[in-house]
Amino acid sequence: MIFIKSEEEVELMRQSNLLVSRTHAMLAGEIREGVSTSLLDKLAEEFIRDNGGIPGFLNYNGFPNTLCISVNDVVVHGIPSGYMLKPGDIVSVDCGAILNGFNGDSCYTFEVGEVKPEVKALLKCTKESLYIGIEQAIAGNTIGDIGSAVQKHAESHGYSVVRELVGHGIGRHLHEEPEVPNYGKKGKGIKLRERMTIAIEPMINMGRKDIYQERDHWTIRTKDGKPSAHFEHTVVVRKDKADILSDFSIIEEVLKKKV
Ligand code: MG
Ligand code: MG
Repeated sequence: MIFIKSEEEVELMRQSNLLVSRTHAMLAGEIREGVSTSLLDKLAEEFIRDNGGIPGFLNYNGFPNTLCISVNDVVVHGIPSGYMLKPGDIVSVDCGAILNGFNGDSCYTFEVGEVKPEVKALLKCTKESLYIGIEQAIAGNTIGDIGSAVQKHAESHGYSVVRELVGHGIGRHLHEEPEVPNYGKKGKGIKLRERMTIAIEPMINMGRKDIYQERDHWTIRTKDGKPSAHFEHTVVVRKDKADILSDFSIIEEVLKKKV
């Protein structure tokens, strides 16, 4: 069943998503060569708890950490570890937080040091495809309108769209109905209604779309070993234009000052 939120609930979700984005902004200042992904995870957990939240991913279906940290060919669900970031890495940091009983969920892919131009282009296109998908998240459109817009943009640049993992409804539960695939056909799927809250999260591969799961039962990698990027916003469906509840601008302010 799909939960339509009240305006009050939407505002609570804005708070939980802002906490997620503020966590990303804090991490943006910490991500550099030589930092371990487990340190980033520890900092994120402290930050979320210090701000009155609960890490949304920790123990979710048994996930062991606060962040999913997915480096280079890891698509999603990377487990924080002693791995130290290297120049040229891309690192997607998926973060969830619960505040006032509602979930926030957002992902940002960061660059470590100098990243190859072709990898930068993948990040740019993935982020664009997220916003192009969000443009379709208006009442009366369908789930397929979002997926088809994301897919078209990514594939027109020669990239491929991961099929097995999708966006989702979000609210009191991290994953609610409906599923929000990053591929599909215009006009297909359920109709979007005002005050539905959904996470749109394109996972775009530089090479082929095929993936596999590691024996840890979490880490998802590209089969061809090529890099994959992931950007995610939680949004509320509106009549004319979706309202984005998470916020990249505070992350990017920190990144700009770093350079
Ligand atoms: Mg996420
Ligand atoms: Mg999500």
